[in-house]
Amino acid sequence: MSEQTMSRSIFRLALHWQILAALILGALAGVVIPDVVTSVDFVGDLFLKGLRMVIVPLITTSIICGVAGLGGGEGVGRLSGKTLLYYTMTSLLAIVTGLILVNLTQPGVGVDLGLADRPERLAASMDRFGDSPGAALIRLLLDLVPSNPFAAMAEGNMLQIIVFALLFGTFITRLPEAQRKPLESIFTSAFAVMMKLTHFILSFAPLGIFALVGRTVARTGIDVFAGLGIYALTVLLGLLIHACVTLPILLSVLGRLRPHIHAQAMSPALLTAFSTSSSSATLPLTLDCLENRAGVSNRVTSFVAPLGATVNMDGTALYECVAALFIAQAYGVELSILQQGLVVVTALLASIGAAGIPMAGLVMISVILTAVGLPLEGVGLILAVDRVLDMCRTTVNVWSDTCGAALIARSEGEKGLVSLRDQG
Ligand code: ASP
Repeated sequence: MSEQTMSRSIFRLALHWQILAALILGALAGVVIPDVVTSVDFVGDLFLKGLRMVIVPLITTSIICGVAGLGGGEGVGRLSGKTLLYYTMTSLLAIVTGLILVNLTQPGVGVDLGLADRPERLAASMDRFGDSPGAALIRLLLDLVPSNPFAAMAEGNMLQIIVFALLFGTFITRLPEAQRKPLESIFTSAFAVMMKLTHFILSFAPLGIFALVGRTVARTGIDVFAGLGIYALTVLLGLLIHACVTLPILLSVLGRLRPHIHAQAMSPALLTAFSTSSSSATLPLTLDCLENRAGVSNRVTSFVAPLGATVNMDGTALYECVAALFIAQAYGVELSILQQGLVVVTALLASIGAAGIPMAGLVMISVILTAVGLPLEGVGLILAVDRVLDMCRTTVNVWSDTCGAALIARSEGEKGLVSLRDQG
């Protein structure tokens, strides 16, 4: 291979390989040349600022499009009821799986943060726990509703933005067609442009991640990765249980479907989800596999899958819960049962709010950290292994969408599914 060809092929390396290389090189640089890495850490901040720049408009347009996609017509009420029930139920099952595992493995306990200002930060964040549990829950409920949605957007208050976007999208569908159509097309276009802008920013991920990981390692030492090993394994084990035990049981018991046949039919979409880390990018394949390989009707597919790619993220929900508890453990914050309950609720909302793009789940962790009063800097602790976990949780996200489509098709009396047990 000539030198020119080689450098071109290295340049063309898929983004996830580039990021993996950036991770390893960043960690090495953090150990070998910590001063140099610290002096260029603004590159990491620049990347994070880029991500933060897109997150509010991206989530707003993503949710509005997803919910408005429910549309009108016969049976939509029934279908949306079933869909939302399935999404909520499986996401909660995933979160509880993560919650149990992270309490068993305790991956964050003993992780040395090396933060000089830790006591002040902790004191500030613990203030929020001063309320009685009931008062904290009521405040969380009140905090969900924005008194001014534009202020919520300006402040980046994710929970309030999600609530407003869900309502806005819902009521778009109640408009007469002449008013509904232009709004739908404006938000669809706005969402498309936000996706493009986000992908542009993600193309700088290797540089940004090199700098961020380098800084973390330079500041805290390589020990931080010892805890991350157990943390990452906890997330992966949870994902495995949810994808290979919980969802197959639902398929089998509720739908009389054969999970392995359904998985086989969906394999192109699942592999694409794994390699792109994006439910949205995978959506065309998900639709195609559901309709042409799994035998789900177009009516159910076109309704359930696009909405699922936006709001149903079991893998992300599980990951959000484990990551938040890991950060709490690392900061030495004991979360009571009620506070863990808050983590469950906010993890559900954060997974609904996360867009189907790479690293969206990572950004949404801040929603949970804010809700339970943990320092936002905790996100830096889990950055290093995020890409690998992103690939795996995205696969579970898409797998759950397809299981939902199959189950809802069965509940609508569809008999054409290839995985149907009675078919042989
Ligand atoms: N990448 C995930 C997805 O597209 C979202 C996440 O970051 O958790 O489904």
